[in-house]
Amino acid sequence: MTRVLAKDLLSHVNQTILLRGWIHSFRLLGKLGFLIIRDRSGLSQVVIQEKEQIKNLSELQPGSILRLVGKAVASKEAAFGVEVIEPKITIEVPIREAPLVEYTKPEIPSDLEFILDHRSIALRNRKIQAVFKIQAEMVHAFRLYMHDVVGAVEYFSPNITGASSEGGAEFFNVDYFGYTANLAQSSQLYKQIMVGVYERVFAVSPFFRAEPSHTPRHLAEGKQFEFEMGFFENWHEVLDVQEGTVKAILDHLRKNCTQELEILDTKLILCPQEVAIPRVPFQEALEIVYKRTGTDERKEFDLSPAAEKELCKYAREEHGIDLIFITDWKLEKRPFYSYPKEKNSNLSNTFDLLCAGTEITSGGQRRHIYSSMVEGIRSKGMDPENFEDFLSIFKYGMPPHGGFGMGLERLTMTLLGLKNIREASLFPSDPKRIASQRIKAKIVFGKENIRNEIIRLLHQQKVEFEHLKHEETPVSSEETAKIRGIALEEGVKALILKGKHTKKNYQVNIPGHLKVDMKQVAQMVGEKCEFEDPAVIEERFGLQIGGVPPFGPLLNLETFFDERILEREKAAFNCGLHTESILMNSEDLLKVVEGKIGNFSKE
Ligand code: ATP
Ligand code: MN
Repeated sequence: MTRVLAKDLLSHVNQTILLRGWIHSFRLLGKLGFLIIRDRSGLSQVVIQEKEQIKNLSELQPGSILRLVGKAVASKEAAFGVEVIEPKITIEVPIREAPLVEYTKPEIPSDLEFILDHRSIALRNRKIQAVFKIQAEMVHAFRLYMHDVVGAVEYFSPNITGASSEGGAEFFNVDYFGYTANLAQSSQLYKQIMVGVYERVFAVSPFFRAEPSHTPRHLAEGKQFEFEMGFFENWHEVLDVQEGTVKAILDHLRKNCTQELEILDTKLILCPQEVAIPRVPFQEALEIVYKRTGTDERKEFDLSPAAEKELCKYAREEHGIDLIFITDWKLEKRPFYSYPKEKNSNLSNTFDLLCAGTEITSGGQRRHIYSSMVEGIRSKGMDPENFEDFLSIFKYGMPPHGGFGMGLERLTMTLLGLKNIREASLFPSDPKRIASQRIKAKIVFGKENIRNEIIRLLHQQKVEFEHLKHEETPVSSEETAKIRGIALEEGVKALILKGKHTKKNYQVNIPGHLKVDMKQVAQMVGEKCEFEDPAVIEERFGLQIGGVPPFGPLLNLETFFDERILEREKAAFNCGLHTESILMNSEDLLKVVEGKIGNFSKE
């Protein structure tokens, strides 16, 4: 028997069919059970009458996988116009544990942070599913348009590149066989190289940006729609392609994503095919903002987020469209390869496309004459020698050319009216998360590094502390207390242990005058422990015994504090070096480090 999908059920009315899928929900109404099964095409409803089946299903949680043979019948009551009755059910994968995320509800009743913490399961939610189905269709539509209409060739550029010659702090470094390499911020230079090969090229490329700020529109990793073309008569032909691209994507979504758009209950942005996206020079745009709001940014070199919003409002009110091109930006504000305007070399043939309040694209014409490109590089204080390979294409013939880079997640966010760009990335990375997982601990290696990190943390959390410098402290706690000039009981001993079974390292912290009770520790961590070998500590963490600070999480260690540390108001400890200590409130210490608290010291 072949499997029938939810979406095809209606055409199998009065037939015996096979359904396979996940339990989405199961509820009782009187004596009847209503089972909703999810498959890749959607949901189907199954009516359960048998007592035994009802009992079995009641014990299962969403996510259980069923195989079910039953009869499809038309039903006016069923939300789907069809339901399955008299099923024979095989439980393929029973799930008894309730999922942490209530993903089967239309809207997950949790905040975005929680949803991202449990991303892998949250993605099963129908609204979230719909977002990424639409995103996949956006990429498909882009490829179709580029290939079939524009006649561009897809290219695949490297994502690991030589250490940046473009400068900028936004590059991620990677250790490349002992050398430093960068993760690509864009494929700009490569797409220009490819114009010299195919004239018209496009890509859907990953980009990586070490943007330290936490905003609703920046990710550390994303995808970019890239396009570049050669041989135009007028650089506005690039804007024509950009406009055609957005309209083609919208058209494709309207035709192919009706179900998803319905689930999301969002209309796409306002963008009638016949309305041209307005093209407003930068200086005029600032005038418009000034006239409409009284806010004078006419001397600025960039658009503020408020100005971007206002210009989109203007486009909607005056032109009936949620998109607006801002052209002719000041050259100084644009990248080195930007083409200076012939009539005014302070300006450039560049544009941004704003959509529903946010920049989604930057693009423009590029310098294509060798000497001009060299001048562009120099004008940004960079060295043309670092661009040798890139520059060679201009030595050997480049046509007038230009293109754009449009953020996939930005476009998803603005087209669907999402509030945060993280909702438009399957596994978002930002300063606090890598691939949606919270960054749990750093491994800070070495004495000075860990000291700096501790001090940075304390400042960041606005905790008061004293940073003491003194002669080298010996291993004995009594001597150390004397050198620091504080009571022995106020010293905190940070010990690194090793689990005898797992070989995992733990950190336990106790008051300086006490000893660690290994029996209690074993109970607490669930295995017998011993002291880690000092040579291993040195090799693994770059620290020496006696210099280890009670900041285990910075070393990626599960960390425990003996509760007797709180008996004294102050706590002192070596902060990575034998010659420097930190003196702070013991309560603050336990708060900042976020270790577990237990009772594992003895006299
Ligand atoms: P912004 O000014 O918004 O930070 P940008 O001007 O630095 O962006 P560009 O270098 O012009 O960005 O990149 C082209 C497009 O790539 C942007 O218009 C945007 O859609 C997208 N993009 C750039 N940086 C990010 C990011 N950190 N997260 C998500 N999308 C981005
Ligand atoms: Mn930009």
